[in-house]
Amino acid sequence: NTAPAVAELDASKCTITPTLNPKRVPAPNSPEVWSQGYTSDHMLTARWTEKSGWESPEIRPYGPLSIMPTASVLHYATECFEGMKAYRGDDGKVRLFRPDRNAKRFLQSATRIALPGFAPEEFLKLLKRFVGFEASKWISEPGHFIYIRPTMIATAPALGVQKPREALLYIMMVMFPALDEPTAVPTSPSSGTQMGQEAKGAKGMRLLASNHDMIRAWPGGFGSAKVGANYGPSLVAQGEARERGYNQILWLFGEECYVTEAGGSNFFVLWINESGKKELVTAPLGDGVILEGVTRASVLDLVRRSRPDVEVVERKFTMEELIKAEKEGRLLEGFGAGTAFFIAPVADIHFRGTDVVFPLGKGGDAEFAMGIKKDLKDVMYGRASHEWGVVV
Ligand code: PMP
Repeated sequence: NTAPAVAELDASKCTITPTLNPKRVPAPNSPEVWSQGYTSDHMLTARWTEKSGWESPEIRPYGPLSIMPTASVLHYATECFEGMKAYRGDDGKVRLFRPDRNAKRFLQSATRIALPGFAPEEFLKLLKRFVGFEASKWISEPGHFIYIRPTMIATAPALGVQKPREALLYIMMVMFPALDEPTAVPTSPSSGTQMGQEAKGAKGMRLLASNHDMIRAWPGGFGSAKVGANYGPSLVAQGEARERGYNQILWLFGEECYVTEAGGSNFFVLWINESGKKELVTAPLGDGVILEGVTRASVLDLVRRSRPDVEVVERKFTMEELIKAEKEGRLLEGFGAGTAFFIAPVADIHFRGTDVVFPLGKGGDAEFAMGIKKDLKDVMYGRASHEWGVVV
């Protein structure tokens, strides 16, 4: 007398309903692209219920979702998401960059907020299917890319504070400006968005260190999960940074002012350490404060493999250490690493009335960061053959 088995997520059951109203593809860097709301023609959806499990996934015309005002996600932030890109390579092939990592992180984020699990390999198959379906129109030229946003929400129409009984997984593709390219200037001054393109033309990101009353994440919390609940509460500080002319918040933690992440990017510093060695440092994983970025992992791997002259350490470090290194002339480079901004060199950090200035902010360059950027880009666009570049 066993309970009926609930269905697993199954990519082979995916159905396709093509749109009857295909959209125009906007020009790169047009205001529509800067709006970051211009999606491709279709979305992929898969419904889940506690009773029956995963229903057949569907690729269907992009459009509004219908959920009840009582839906869990609208009250209890039962939402998680991913962010990745698909790239059209110089060889004409479409690639994802280490998508297995996004699939695993998506699963971890979902289960952290009691959303249903799934086999990451099935999710990956769905993702490839969907990207393959949209790519010829939406990433038509070598060098072009599109942003992909997998999302999961709890949809059951009941206000009880309880584990989700119904959920919706959906994937959409959004036109996105090349935020890391100095040439990517919006064509309309009114097209500004929250993503920090004010940096365009400037020689590096300007960061505003967060105050004690605005913490992004804390030990034992959920900062290591990509859940919407981490982002809404960050927007006050983010807005203040923008108003004061900075690109991103540098999130600090604790009385010690530990340096954690920069906006939606992991944060790296290259310096000469106290023992006189060249060292790349970034905040460690493990206590729930840091999101394990795909870019972060790739920077660490790449530098460990290709730069024997640089020591790579994941450890806690403080603003005080940065200030001391600057005073002693040991500060070499700082950069953010993430999908949206990619590798973004930092010019300076404003902290309690003073500026910590990197050589880049004094007319120097960011040769190390730019080298990493080139190497990773070569994989994304198929210029270098590497297992990280996964052909769709
Ligand atoms: N930290 C935070 C808080 C983020 O939102 C992101 C973007 N996902 C990152 C770091 C960078 O992660 P990734 O390299 O996977 O884009």
